[in-house]
Amino acid sequence: MSDTGRDALLQRLRETRHVPVLIVGGGINGMGTFRDLALQGVDCLLVERGDFCSGTSRAPSRMIHGGLKYLETGEFRLVRESAEERNRLLRNAAHYVHPLEMIIPIYSWTAGILPALRRFLRRPAKLTERGAAVIKLGLTLYDIYGRLNRVMPRHRMIRREDALREIPDLDPRIRIAASYYDAWITSPERLVVELALDGMEANPANMALNHVSFDGIESGRARLRDVMTGEIFLVGCDLMINAAGPWIDRVNAAAGEKGRMIGGTKGSHLLLDLPVFARSLEGRMMYFEAEGGRICLVSNFMGHVLLGSTDIPTEDPDGVVCTDEEVDYLLDAFRRIFPEVAVTRDHIFFSYAGVRPLPAQDASDPGAISRDHSMPVRPASPGRGFPILSLVGGKWTTFRSFSAGVTDAALSCLGRERRRTTEELAIGGGTGLSQGTGDAEALLSELAATGLSRGRAARLLACYGSRARLIANAFRGPETFLTHLPEVSHEELAFIARHEVVHGAQDVLFGRGALFLERPLPRAALSELVRALAGILDWDAGRIAREEESLIERYRRHHRIGFDAEGMPQFV
Ligand SMILES: Cc1cc2nc3c(=O)[nH]c(=O)nc-3n(C[C@H](O)[C@H](O)[C@H](O)COP(=O)(O)OP(=O)(O)OC[C@H]3O[C@@H](n4cnc5c(N)ncnc54)[C@H](O)[C@@H]3O)c2cc1C
Repeated sequence: MSDTGRDALLQRLRETRHVPVLIVGGGINGMGTFRDLALQGVDCLLVERGDFCSGTSRAPSRMIHGGLKYLETGEFRLVRESAEERNRLLRNAAHYVHPLEMIIPIYSWTAGILPALRRFLRRPAKLTERGAAVIKLGLTLYDIYGRLNRVMPRHRMIRREDALREIPDLDPRIRIAASYYDAWITSPERLVVELALDGMEANPANMALNHVSFDGIESGRARLRDVMTGEIFLVGCDLMINAAGPWIDRVNAAAGEKGRMIGGTKGSHLLLDLPVFARSLEGRMMYFEAEGGRICLVSNFMGHVLLGSTDIPTEDPDGVVCTDEEVDYLLDAFRRIFPEVAVTRDHIFFSYAGVRPLPAQDASDPGAISRDHSMPVRPASPGRGFPILSLVGGKWTTFRSFSAGVTDAALSCLGRERRRTTEELAIGGGTGLSQGTGDAEALLSELAATGLSRGRAARLLACYGSRARLIANAFRGPETFLTHLPEVSHEELAFIARHEVVHGAQDVLFGRGALFLERPLPRAALSELVRALAGILDWDAGRIAREEESLIERYRRHHRIGFDAEGMPQFV
């Protein structure tokens, strides 16, 4: 295993003057490209100004989907590509991507036929309600587009009485419901980190560095800055790939390229503590219309209710939070389909928001802006000796095919050939695991043979897939568990902190697993986590205090979570 501790990588960056490819932005699209280029033997450096996956890629609805609603806008190529990529991710990231049944409650038989037809023909039309006929037709087409390598059942229509029996809190005014299958991802944060580790493993010359920002051009080279210390690095390249998502225009401007490529829309989600209701949704996501026909989602996420999302044009991607208006909108939407569930703001235990990096477009209906991707290139200029290729648009689901297209363009720019494809290549802990086979069971037995209890082995498997093997082998012996986070051990933390490009406690809590979403964490748990990391990374008292403060600040600023006098978290 190459040394993937952050300090070792920084030391190598100090010795680097030139790389063939510099990637700016460590979200899913930048990291997908990083891994693909590494596999082609191209040396590249990726810099991310926050932690990996700390921008839009950490704020999705967690659907890995074919994009049913893109049928309405006639984007058939995108639906086919998305459905194929969904099926691939189910195979290549079987540790985090799982099939999910989607349920659509339907209130009318015929609503929406005319506007759907207009949209289908790419004429402007606002769809405020979709009836059974439109949905049946859409789902039939969706089945056709997803048939290649299909691993999930086809759609079915569900009689009203059966739907109400399966989901008793559902609005009794529905006429019928529909069921189809897509997929969801449990740990997008970890999948991005695992792509970074895979890329560095595939080509040990490659470096993915978090908390290093691209600040501009100096003497024809990229000026990079360690955000934690202010240290500056000047690195030349043959090609720069701008994968800064909603910040693409700002990065291009810093590189001397004016112009507007991105017109982002903000989307927020809430996590609700409603365990009894959440159980009735086990394994299902409700896909329903809010006021005005916007699609919203409700699902059971780790025993809680995940509710999203909004879609609001925004100019500034920095520091977005879920506002009071969005909270009201989402709770109202929830009450429309679950009128009997007494939900209030007191049930919120977490919120998050992100900005979709959509192509700049004038559209009165943000939902109608294309989710397709493109990669415009700006040529080298006199002050900057290299061209810039920008990754505009796209979605989580299609990152692999987007990255493959970008990699092909980069290879052609460098005059090199593709050596291998990523189509059938497993990611990180997805290696050696397939859906619905005995792989997971075999790995569980193997882990149990190292002395772990079966419950502990199952937890490690769920968190890390087959990378659990590396973690278990690293400590071999009894683990000591944290008191306030009894699902986490000191030994496991030591492995993560030393091998997964960690700088501080925020990286571990928010970026190396979904622990922060499993339940509301009291201050005592945050404090204990920081102290455990201090023992591993050798932090002094001042650093411990700063790290603890940064966790509390992040909860407050990004997720609207404060702590009461007893240190219990509450939505504010
Ligand atoms: C509310 C919402 C719900 C969504 N739901 C889904 C879904 O269910 N399924 C789906 O497929 N897609 C979904 N998407 C879309 C998907 O999340 C995005 O398309 C995808 O994450 C974009 O990834 P990215 O890598 O392009 O951008 P980002 O993840 O934003 O990455 C860009 C990175 O660049 C970094 N950066 C910026 N400036 C600099 C700089 N100067 N130097 C260094 N680094 C810099 C940022 O910190 C950031 O981490 C959703 C999006 C939103 C907002």
